[in-house]
Amino acid sequence: MAIEQSATEERVAIVTGAARGIGAATAIRLAAEGRAVAVLDLDEAACKDTVEKITAAGGRALAVGADVSDEEQVTAAVARIAEELGAPTILVNNAGVLRDNLIFKMSVSDWDTVLNVHLRGAFLMSRAVQKHMVDAKFGRIVNLSSSSALGNRGQANYAAAKAGMQGLTKTLAIELGKFGVTVNAVAPGFIATDMTAATAARVGMGFEDFKAAAATQIPVARVGLPEDVGNAIAFFSGDAAGFVSGQVLYVAGGPLD
Ligand code: NAP
Repeated sequence: MAIEQSATEERVAIVTGAARGIGAATAIRLAAEGRAVAVLDLDEAACKDTVEKITAAGGRALAVGADVSDEEQVTAAVARIAEELGAPTILVNNAGVLRDNLIFKMSVSDWDTVLNVHLRGAFLMSRAVQKHMVDAKFGRIVNLSSSSALGNRGQANYAAAKAGMQGLTKTLAIELGKFGVTVNAVAPGFIATDMTAATAARVGMGFEDFKAAAATQIPVARVGLPEDVGNAIAFFSGDAAGFVSGQVLYVAGGPLD
């Protein structure tokens, strides 16, 4: 499907962790709405597929390699995006990792890695990008939380990071609202990606069996797809969502709170 330029002004979006999974689907979805998209991930070469899908459909995209938990790399990446694509006014803090273990077996390094990528990464990216949003008097930040924010066995680090994303979201919404910047969180339940495939492997189950078992616990009777999350992010990042801020939307095929 060819990408048609939207009637609204072209905006530059950054999606972190966009080489695959939810981030890739979101980058493609935002590009389909006429956004120029910086596809940011740890390894620039790994972003090639997502960028090619966007450009093949007539969109504009840039592959950017950066570790979101590294202050210098974040500063350099945002400066490069502003120069090569334009000032970013949409930011999706999606990059993530898992280091699951029960608390008595969880190493300090497993704790730090997860908190650093999700929470410090979202802080560093938001701090670097907000200046462009404030200058433009328009901005949309969407943070990836998770149903695990409500507590999940074996995920003390991840649950703490994802609950932290909700506090970050509400606070940035309060601080940045007067500059035309909204900040919301999307909290997915079970989404079929490499991340959940890795969890299946860790618990010794085939991915198809793992998905089927998960689906029996989900009211809509299926697991989520990356595009399900991309749809919710597209709403929050759109011009029409300007009066919705500080919210957490569970995208989980059923109610959670
Ligand atoms: P995924 O398939 O594992 O993709 C995550 C991406 O983030 C990978 O491309 C990864 O790169 C990248 N990344 C990791 N550390 C990074 C860093 N320091 N800097 C930049 N990029 C980094 O995961 P996903 O399932 O799409 O999940 C995306 C987001 O949704 C995450 O925040 C996750 O916690 C959240 N979420 C997912 C689910 C689910 O069921 N899948 C549910 C709730 C929430 P590498 O490949 O190089 O590691």
